[in-house]
Amino acid sequence: MDVPLIFERSRAGRRGVVLPPPENGWVNPEAWLPPELVRTAPLGLPEVSEQDVVRHYTQLSTLNYGVDTGFYPLGSCTMKYNPKVNDWAAGLAGFADLHPLQPEETVQGVLTLLAELEGGLAEIAGMDAVTLQPAAGAHGELTGILMIKAYLAARGDPRTTVLVPDSAHGTNPATATMAGFQVREVPSNARGGVDVGALRHALGPDTAALMLTNPNTLGLFEEDILEIADLVHAAGGLLYYDGANANAILGRVRPGDMGFDVVHLNLHKTFSTPHGGGGPGSGPVGVKAPLAPFLPGPRLVKQNGGWGWNYRLPQSIGKVRSYYGNVGVLVRAYAYLRAQGAAGLREVADMAVLNANYLLARLGPQYQTAIARRPVKHEFVISAVPQKHRGARALDIAKRLIDYGYYPPTVYFPLVVEEAMMVEPTETESKETLDRFADAMLAIDREIDASPELLAEAPHGTVVSRMDEARAARQPRLVWETSPRPGEARGNQGGH
Ligand SMILES: *Cc1c(COP(=O)(O)O)cnc(C)c1O
Repeated sequence: MDVPLIFERSRAGRRGVVLPPPENGWVNPEAWLPPELVRTAPLGLPEVSEQDVVRHYTQLSTLNYGVDTGFYPLGSCTMKYNPKVNDWAAGLAGFADLHPLQPEETVQGVLTLLAELEGGLAEIAGMDAVTLQPAAGAHGELTGILMIKAYLAARGDPRTTVLVPDSAHGTNPATATMAGFQVREVPSNARGGVDVGALRHALGPDTAALMLTNPNTLGLFEEDILEIADLVHAAGGLLYYDGANANAILGRVRPGDMGFDVVHLNLHKTFSTPHGGGGPGSGPVGVKAPLAPFLPGPRLVKQNGGWGWNYRLPQSIGKVRSYYGNVGVLVRAYAYLRAQGAAGLREVADMAVLNANYLLARLGPQYQTAIARRPVKHEFVISAVPQKHRGARALDIAKRLIDYGYYPPTVYFPLVVEEAMMVEPTETESKETLDRFADAMLAIDREIDASPELLAEAPHGTVVSRMDEARAARQPRLVWETSPRPGEARGNQGGH
């Protein structure tokens, strides 16, 4: 199906809705708007009928692939199970129709929910206090690292360097850089964990923090975490936990007990909010007590027999988001926590780990885990280097999976693995689904020798086939020109 752009459907004068003329006559906005605010060129909207619009978006929706369409083994970003009942809860008028500027006494219900969610997340992470403000994991990282900076400065011990392992997610070094720190990389060892010797060497009086994901981006649990925490603390630094992989450890072990001082959790990964398509997300941050005075404000407090906001926080790093976070996401997370309970959350982690190890076992020996061959947690990373020697790269295998009806795993991340394919099967997937996916992966592996052209040109069954990725990245066409000036071709060239 070839779906044209909505601008290509545009015909001059065509309308979806025709409004009657205003009863009191036409008000000319130019008469009262400041001249610099008056538009000088037409807005350039597509001119289409209602039917054009409905068909356009309905057709586009059939091209979508999501967790409601099929298996979505996207490593690192965790396409978790999102019970539909949580969407119902978030859509209740008592939550959805509130205004953030309503008087506190009229919103005691949602404030109670937020307070209980703070408490629940603190318990799960092993932290003493939580802010729900940050709107994503990366935003939580920035919040956490700014708090570490403020904490060290308040102690009269400003430090300049943040350490990150070479397997870290790109947001970790980006966060440290944005917060004004130097980034120093710590290499991994042969078992896929932090090389403790190299860490010892990197630690010093300039070390502000070590940012760590556990299990890490290879899906491997950091076995030396207690020793690592001791080393960082002995050097005067703090330990930051990137909680993007927390779905692997829920109810089994807590970052606070591993020695971490600051934690972010991605509610859209671990706590049941659908994600993809740009959000909204939520990245609450938990801290140990010494860092609590630096949390973003305002803070929820019990006052006058109810919940209210405390703005008098002299050491706070300040607000990091308008109002109090993405409340719809917070309602979903709360509903999920209450529905699962402690035992349910532990089962979520156990099933995530079981599914990943089952799938990994089914893919061997054709596909091999990268770096260390040991049991994984909720995800695993294959290196397609043997496949590359036979003529197909990780990218070719990923594109071919689309023909088999699957969303491809994350590829070429983490950067420490050549030809990386990072697979994370959702904890609620059935054995039959995992088996069908494994069968597809094994069939593709056989195709590399039997019919290599199938991989080289994949995908075959999609509207858009193989992209020129370099050109798409370097010459994006961001604006569609609807009415080219006379003598000017309508642009396919870059820069539009
Ligand atoms: C997704 C992810 C992040 C960033 O989180 P966002 O919510 O996407 O901003 C950081 N670290 C890891 C390991 C991740 O998987």
